[in-house]
Amino acid sequence: MKQYKLFINGKFVPNGKREMLDVINPATEKVISQVPKATAKDVEAAVDAAYEAQKSWGKLPASSRAAYLYKLADLVRENRVLFAKTNSEEMGKPYAQSFDEAGWLADYIVYYAELARHIKGEIIPSDRPNENILLYKMPIGVVGGIMPWNFPLFLIGRKVAPALVAGDTVVLKPSSDSPNGCYEFANLVKKAGIPDGVVNVVTGSGAVVGNALASNPKVHLVSMTGSTEAGQKIMKTAADNVTKVSLELGGKAPVIVMADCDFDATIEHVYNSRIINTGQACNCAERVYVQKPIYDKFVKKIVAKFKATTYGPALEGKFDIGPMVNKAQQEHVDELVQSAKAEGGKIKCGGHKASYNGKGWFYEPTVIADCKHGMRIMTEEIFGPVLPITSFDTFDEVIEMANDTVYGLTSSIYTSSYDVAMRAMNELHFGETYINREHFEAFQGFHAGVRQSGIGGDDGEHGLEEFLETHICYIDYNLKADVK
Ligand code: NAD
Repeated sequence: MKQYKLFINGKFVPNGKREMLDVINPATEKVISQVPKATAKDVEAAVDAAYEAQKSWGKLPASSRAAYLYKLADLVRENRVLFAKTNSEEMGKPYAQSFDEAGWLADYIVYYAELARHIKGEIIPSDRPNENILLYKMPIGVVGGIMPWNFPLFLIGRKVAPALVAGDTVVLKPSSDSPNGCYEFANLVKKAGIPDGVVNVVTGSGAVVGNALASNPKVHLVSMTGSTEAGQKIMKTAADNVTKVSLELGGKAPVIVMADCDFDATIEHVYNSRIINTGQACNCAERVYVQKPIYDKFVKKIVAKFKATTYGPALEGKFDIGPMVNKAQQEHVDELVQSAKAEGGKIKCGGHKASYNGKGWFYEPTVIADCKHGMRIMTEEIFGPVLPITSFDTFDEVIEMANDTVYGLTSSIYTSSYDVAMRAMNELHFGETYINREHFEAFQGFHAGVRQSGIGGDDGEHGLEEFLETHICYIDYNLKADVK
């Protein structure tokens, strides 16, 4: 069994008598590795290393920093199978999706390396004679990258790639449910010859390790992806040092299906949007509103798709979905499903916890029809292969229901009417709206939530801005002439 080591200042720190955490394959319930439980002192050492390393890393030309990123992306591609297997083993993702995710990690690193020559300041006209005003975009400094378990490879890219190209250094803290990929990545950081301290990896609980990162005054940006509850705690902690936060939090994405939609294509998109990553994706279809004329037909067709959905351990066969990441998540999904049943929802298929050969924390693919807008299953994040559906009459009514949420990450509408699509774009109050397309973002877009789904954002040139700070410089180039 693999025992990983903290990665601090370019070295894998011997575990010695350090406490270790078991990492469990959720499909088989077997312990697959152990990772060290870092202490607050370990985190301090990692932040100090990042702080020192940033002094020279930040002075390298951005194109030289990008050269390291290209090397790193090549190494990720060479190790794509290892990453894919690691991902499927530690969080249960179907293998093809893990393989895709390892590819996204490499591609995302390349995307940001390509932006190296696009980090630009401004020259602003002055009100004074003999003066230049130069606005620089500078590295922000040390980034604390706090990660969830659901896209453990891709999220490494989101935390590391923009930071490194911007001239920042990073301390990564993966989730204890899926930390292995991050340590495999640390091996490649070393192989790519990235200077010591530029990327560090520490593992342990949010309350100790995450908190030590968010409260350290040498951390200049806490870039966290995870639940709204943890994001709120991090924001409070970071407030003590007025540290900048970029928080990508939970969602409760509404899908609006108008009667004039392309029916078959809509079914495929909504299905894919709920099934991907076993329903454990922040941006995907969490509640569906179908216009009355096509409601029964929609429910019938989507139920057939869910009934045909296969589940099992990713490394033992080709399955559509895997397990929930842990037992607690399986219990959470079941509790919400049972609450929906009690509140009058009709379980059309699934509705139970499941296992494979008596092991694993699976959940049956589940469709719940005739839900009511205010029910818990329509307002709380499910994060599983469960689709609650309700019906509506008018566009105004459905927009009202879609916006009636504390979350504001993604949303979508399926319609063939240009007017309806344009109105939805303007009236849906979410960070992202997808029209006639499943919920999934692009590298060059901007992934960001409003309300309790977060603050700040990732991806594209706007995402890079999070990792930069602005420094303005006023230059009087003829002092003598100005002092009369
Ligand atoms: P989580 O909030 O439990 O944990 C996320 C990370 O925060 C972990 O590394 C955890 O250890 C750390 N953490 C927890 N408490 C902390 C504290 N007090 N101080 C510092 N760090 C702390 O989330 P999770 O269960 O790993 O992930 C699932 C959640 O993530 C879902 O709500 C999902 O919607 C969200 N998510 C959002 C996005 C997005 O881009 N908006 C992407 C993926 C996942």
